[in-house]
Amino acid sequence: MSAVELDDLEAGELSVEFEGCEPWELLEWAMDRFGERLALSTSFQEGGVALIDMAYAIDPEVRVFSIDTGRLPEETYELIEALRERYPGLRLEMLSPEAGQVQRLVDRNGPNLFRRSVDLRLLCCNVRKVQPLNRALAGLDAWVTALRRDQWASRSDIRKVEIDHDHEAIVKLNPLAEWTEDEVWDYIRENAVPVHPLYERGFTSIGCAPCTRAIAAGEPARAGRWWWETNAPKECGMHCAIETGGFEHELHAILGDKAHA
Ligand code: SF4
Repeated sequence: MSAVELDDLEAGELSVEFEGCEPWELLEWAMDRFGERLALSTSFQEGGVALIDMAYAIDPEVRVFSIDTGRLPEETYELIEALRERYPGLRLEMLSPEAGQVQRLVDRNGPNLFRRSVDLRLLCCNVRKVQPLNRALAGLDAWVTALRRDQWASRSDIRKVEIDHDHEAIVKLNPLAEWTEDEVWDYIRENAVPVHPLYERGFTSIGCAPCTRAIAAGEPARAGRWWWETNAPKECGMHCAIETGGFEHELHAILGDKAHA
């Protein structure tokens, strides 16, 4: 255990301490405590760009990463260009899945496998998102996310400081946990933060192009993600382990783990 790591008890105490504090207060504390061993993870949604703005104001050298799944909408790349202009020198790393794994995934199951079953969708998310995330987190002591309690039932009890037992017990920080969607948008407007162009077209939660669509009035914000699925979590496995057992044999084959292939 390195000197900067926390245990569950300390994380719980810090969560209580930072409850009621502004997101940038937690960010400032974390950036000071973890330095280069901390990075901000973003998928360029409203919370992610708000956090980039806050973190850049504290230290323009802050590390930021995102995962380029290979299936992102063109508008996401437009936003990346806008962010690079707005925040000169922004240290934004775009992480790609391993080409060999993607090739095996597509060769075995076709490019749009996610339409056929929840297991195949989770397999695609695992290869294109979860594996690159795991590689990124392996080099960190702490990561920052834009998760909020008001996003979906599976997120309603997140704490501001957690130990991420799905990722080698590094620290997971959720500075926006107690903010509402309206509070995030107020911050964005007040600080002229660039936002994803698809929000103007009725999208409320944006991921890969084939798996995201605009929602109808009154639908929950994440209803546009994997909209064809029923009774499946609106999650990809980046923020919570999803083990159905159904796709794991196939996953090992794709990852090149011969023992399981
Ligand atoms: Fe694949 Fe869709 Fe998941 Fe993107 S969101 S990784 S395209 S299943």
